[in-house]
Amino acid sequence: MTTIGFVGLGNMGAPMARNLLKAGHVIAVYDVSTDAMERLEGVRMATSAADAARGAAFVVTMLPAGRHVREAVLGPSGVAGATDTGTILIDCSTIDVATAREIAAGAGRPFLDAPVSGGVMGAEAGTLTFMVGGPADAFACAEPILRCMGKTVVHCGDAGAGQAAKACNNMLLAISMIGTCEAFVLAEKLGLSHEALFDVASKSSGQCWSLTTYCPVPGPVPGSPANRDYKPGFTAELMVKDLGLAQEAATANGASTPMGARALELYRDFLAQGGEGSDFSGIIRLLRGGVNGAGD
Ligand code: NAD
Repeated sequence: MTTIGFVGLGNMGAPMARNLLKAGHVIAVYDVSTDAMERLEGVRMATSAADAARGAAFVVTMLPAGRHVREAVLGPSGVAGATDTGTILIDCSTIDVATAREIAAGAGRPFLDAPVSGGVMGAEAGTLTFMVGGPADAFACAEPILRCMGKTVVHCGDAGAGQAAKACNNMLLAISMIGTCEAFVLAEKLGLSHEALFDVASKSSGQCWSLTTYCPVPGPVPGSPANRDYKPGFTAELMVKDLGLAQEAATANGASTPMGARALELYRDFLAQGGEGSDFSGIIRLLRGGVNGAGD
């Protein structure tokens, strides 16, 4: 049994905190929304991030963006000032690599950037993938805590390496999803059935996760969002966020990522044309020429 502070109880944070509770840990929570804290039973409700962190061996943050994490860790009511130097800080938010490194350098105690993949379903089921950057000894201490919330936990390297892995992975995912959608759109124009393309490509060189696990047309993969009118899943808004972080990192570090840049433009167009709230695989509607039903 370990005492853990948890800051940020949104769509992801709340089920993650529940899984820590289920594993028998003692949890103190803080969220700017009192409602979000009240929805969680069996925890101590704190009055600030610092209050949630008091006496904790680990503090987990799960917040929207880098500025929120900086405030929650380094701010006047932040966790760094309220913990002893042995407390391990684990940020599971998706934020930019540069801010993750800046917070790690300023925290004065071990800080791990540990963004996740697996979405709300993975958070609820405790099957998230954690990609972790930071000191190896802190990672070894934190791994059992992360395993209460996830199935796969990978140490990717020094500070920022977790966020770097997340940015690279999600840029690749966006590009492969758009490529998969384009192949189905071309097949439709050529009179080739979805099933026929799926049967061939899933067994040949076009095979990828966007096709075989998350197929953007209904039918071949019954569990994919395409079968429920593109209800998320992983929203197009979050994909735009992650592609933006990847492009920011590419620009800051001189990497050439023209496909990632184009994927960001296409996802922005998708949002502008009514794709808000849709799963990211719904971009097939944009590629067919319409978002609000016209492209089906
Ligand atoms: P969310 O908006 O549902 O939750 C964020 C929570 O943080 C809210 O409850 C909000 O009140 C709280 N908050 C904001 N500022 C705060 C502050 N200063 N102090 C305390 N609490 C504060 O977001 P989410 O979907 O849970 O995502 C959290 C993070 O996980 C994001 O970085 C997101 O990119 C990442 N992520 C989300 C998904 C997903 O499918 N939702 C998947 C992978 C990664």
